[in-house]
Amino acid sequence: MAHFQPYPWHDAAWQRLTDLQSRQRLPHALVLSGPAGTGKTALAESLAALLFCAAPKDNKPCGGCKGCLLWKADTHPDCHRLTPLTDEKTGKTSKVIKVDQVRSLLGFLSKSAQLGGWRIAMIEPADTLNVNAANSLLKTLEEPGERTLILLLTDQPLALLPTIRSRCQTVPLGVPERAQAVSWLASRLETPEQAGLLLSLSQGAPLAGLALAKQEVFRQREDLAKRLLAVATGRSGALSASTASQKLPAQDFWFWLYGFCADIHLMSSQVQGAIKNTDLLPIIRQLADALGGRRALELQALCVENQRLLTANIQAGLLQDRFWEQTRG
Ligand SMILES: [Zn+2]
Repeated sequence: MAHFQPYPWHDAAWQRLTDLQSRQRLPHALVLSGPAGTGKTALAESLAALLFCAAPKDNKPCGGCKGCLLWKADTHPDCHRLTPLTDEKTGKTSKVIKVDQVRSLLGFLSKSAQLGGWRIAMIEPADTLNVNAANSLLKTLEEPGERTLILLLTDQPLALLPTIRSRCQTVPLGVPERAQAVSWLASRLETPEQAGLLLSLSQGAPLAGLALAKQEVFRQREDLAKRLLAVATGRSGALSASTASQKLPAQDFWFWLYGFCADIHLMSSQVQGAIKNTDLLPIIRQLADALGGRRALELQALCVENQRLLTANIQAGLLQDRFWEQTRG
């Protein structure tokens, strides 16, 4: 379902946009630019919902009018979305928005609004407009017509043609403040202690952090830490650890292990505050006891070396075997 409300960290931008709207000063073309996974779409959709609502109250859509109901059902006829197309046969999504798609948008904008209100175009990601597509949009960006809003969403504003950027007003959206993002994310996780780590891994983007938490590789991280402990304490052999780890993508395997070794070293040096894998503290502590700081550093260096060898096409399995053997000591 399309959004009705922006995320809380977009409060200031929302205020600014709704202010402009209430003074009837909303520009007709806006670039919403901000990192991926921070909720730009929600902000754009909330603005559209507000404009489509026949009876908004305190800058909130009423939720019950015809415009709101159509918006809720994702079937509002006066909203036109432009995104790279997915081929039905191959399932592959194009890397670009093509000129034909812009032409159909221009067709949409040449007709009056079916509900008699706003017409809204959303282009996302706007940086995928190819040169022809972007050029055919220029004139319309200048004069899209009455009660028309064109929203361009991008996490790479510099990839937009300067001619596009100069015709739009840009709303820069950064990542939320860390404390706010951590508490938002923590309230949505099965393991709230992972919020800080997920946020760091996602460069501060809360929605990206939430998506990462759902990924299988992230869930396998804890198993990997336990395996490391089993080998380090002699409860498991190098060979069985190696076999059990084969399923993890090699890049993730070395990335997670590198992080564990860094944390083990911090734990041994009594610098707990800087530890990243805070949800795994008991395991990290036992690992620090079993390995000690110096061996953790040696293993960390081995992770770096192996990541390098991996890109040089050395067989991933061999590198893993060697790592487990060294952990076993
Ligand atoms: Zn409404």
